[in-house]
Amino acid sequence: MNSWKDKALFTPGPLTTSRTVKQSMLRDLGSRDTQFIQLVFEIRRRLVHLAHASLEAYTSIIMQGSGTFGIESVITSVIPADGKLLVLVNGAYGERIVQMAQVHHIPVIVLQCPEDQVPDIQLLREILTEDQQISHVAVVHCETTTGIINPIQAIGEVVKKHDCIFIVDAMSSFGAYEIPVEGWGIDFLISSSNKCIEGVPGFSFILANKKTLSPVKGSARTLALDLYAQWEELEKTGQFRFTPPVQALMAFNQALIELDEEGGIIARGERYRKISESILSGMQDMGFVTYLDPENRGYIITSFRYPDNSNFNFNTFYQKLSDKGCVIYPGKLSRADCFRIGHIGRLDDADVFVLLSAIRDTLNEMKIELPVS
Ligand SMILES: *Cc1c(COP(=O)(O)O)cnc(C)c1O
Repeated sequence: MNSWKDKALFTPGPLTTSRTVKQSMLRDLGSRDTQFIQLVFEIRRRLVHLAHASLEAYTSIIMQGSGTFGIESVITSVIPADGKLLVLVNGAYGERIVQMAQVHHIPVIVLQCPEDQVPDIQLLREILTEDQQISHVAVVHCETTTGIINPIQAIGEVVKKHDCIFIVDAMSSFGAYEIPVEGWGIDFLISSSNKCIEGVPGFSFILANKKTLSPVKGSARTLALDLYAQWEELEKTGQFRFTPPVQALMAFNQALIELDEEGGIIARGERYRKISESILSGMQDMGFVTYLDPENRGYIITSFRYPDNSNFNFNTFYQKLSDKGCVIYPGKLSRADCFRIGHIGRLDDADVFVLLSAIRDTLNEMKIELPVS
């Protein structure tokens, strides 16, 4: 392995990025410079376009911090004092939204689903019919805990029928799955710089329905994460209220250009799908078993069960793979022992080949033989 090459990141972010994305950061640029303001304007325009929304109806707002900051910005800014939030939970990220509501004393109820199943739409209908207090519904699109893809279009239809505001955490899927926010009735969609757009960490972005955003002026429960105030400043002056991650934004701009060059969201999703399929078949050939049933699996990240072998130890497995240039991810499940392999980022067939060889060698070194079905 060449010493200059970083390890390949088979994680849910931060991810492996292209050399040109990294190179685009080798600059100093003032946050009030017209060139920077133009760059931010262009990024915001491109994001609305990627979400298949019109600039008349939708806007995009960039929020400093990691993805969680963007979600907390939405949760703490858009629910009025007399509002009530319903969260559909089938993993750790849904759980995190519930925690946010609790921290800020926002009335919240949970539709809890098993981690290997998508939410029950009929149950959602019943809850929204019975509890007229519910004003907002939040769900995670790709629940990165397992890699399950929740049916946000079908959920959105029910949410709209009950006149609720629809919030989607599409952190790990936006840029790799087509999500027409306007067509699917999504009022607020949150994603971040360092997932499927393949930028570097530093900020999140929110696609917002202007009609839903306008009335929330003054309802924020924090100063720094005030979504409306952030929007207002970006619209008025093109600037941020507080120091922006200038280099991360330059990298993101380059990443958006490269997304276009690749052929847009469809082509990127196709590359990730191929990577996920190669990894899956290679892993199954070695005897690994996935946590999710095929119908629920997406192509963002796959959870594999620990091998049923007393020689297996995740930390050793992880370290040996890392020594061979491949970084995987631990599991995050409450009930099953799993590890995860991400399929997103600037990865190709050669990286997959290296990963599968590394796993095969590591199993031999750890004297683990798996029963192959
Ligand atoms: C990555 C991720 C987040 C945000 O994580 P940060 O570490 O704050 O960037 C939120 N939700 C989902 C589904 C994610 O995959």
